[in-house]
Amino acid sequence: MTGITIALSKGRIFDETLPLLAAAGIVPAENPEHSRKLIIGSNRPEVRLVVVRASDVPTYVQYGAADLGIAGKDVLLEHGGAGLYQPLDLNIARCRMCVAAPTGFDYAFAVRRGARLRIATKYVATARAHFATKGVHVDLIKLYGSMELAPLVGLADAIVDLVSSGGTLKANNLAEVEEIMSISSRLIVNQAALKVKRDLLQPVIESFARAVKP
Ligand code: ATP
Ligand code: MG
Repeated sequence: MTGITIALSKGRIFDETLPLLAAAGIVPAENPEHSRKLIIGSNRPEVRLVVVRASDVPTYVQYGAADLGIAGKDVLLEHGGAGLYQPLDLNIARCRMCVAAPTGFDYAFAVRRGARLRIATKYVATARAHFATKGVHVDLIKLYGSMELAPLVGLADAIVDLVSSGGTLKANNLAEVEEIMSISSRLIVNQAALKVKRDLLQPVIESFARAVKP
């Protein structure tokens, strides 16, 4: 293979990646939001994009099905990072991972008295590490989306989720009670591809690096 395959997800990561791609001279042939194609060409014949679920991006890059990818720190922590080189924080899709609970729930008090908490989240590995570090006993309930619903129907006491404006939490009578970490998206590179295709990949990585906004 003499070309480059870049794995991206739709939505905010795709939108915020467009200027970085442009800086590397790459213009996608189509917007995946308006196309059903999963493989999208570009103005450069040797560069193509594959559009996958956000949480699948590290897997495609790990196995070399894509050479490059863009994935949130949230997704990378859950994946574990095996086989991936992570040269750049792209400073896009910024948000924070936090613990949120119903406004009527005294989270700090529950933690102080050593209560066992039920926590619903998509981010089981990160949540487990966070509560273990704090010495909080938790039962983790894995969900795949709409975490905000869980405390409202008695599935969980609290959630671990990503927050940017806080609007979704507020609309569901939830409040942020603890920040776990700040999140942004990173460029990831297949470690083997970086050696074999360095002449193709290095210029793209360098263009991205120059285009990253502080
Ligand atoms: P899917 O919708 O396919 O299940 P997803 O919900 O993880 O996947 P997005 O909501 O597009 O996909 O999120 C993709 C990435 O964008 C996340 O992994 C995270 O890094 C970042 N992100 C998620 N929520 C926010 C947010 N509210 N503000 C900024 N960035 C966010
Ligand atoms: Mg989503």
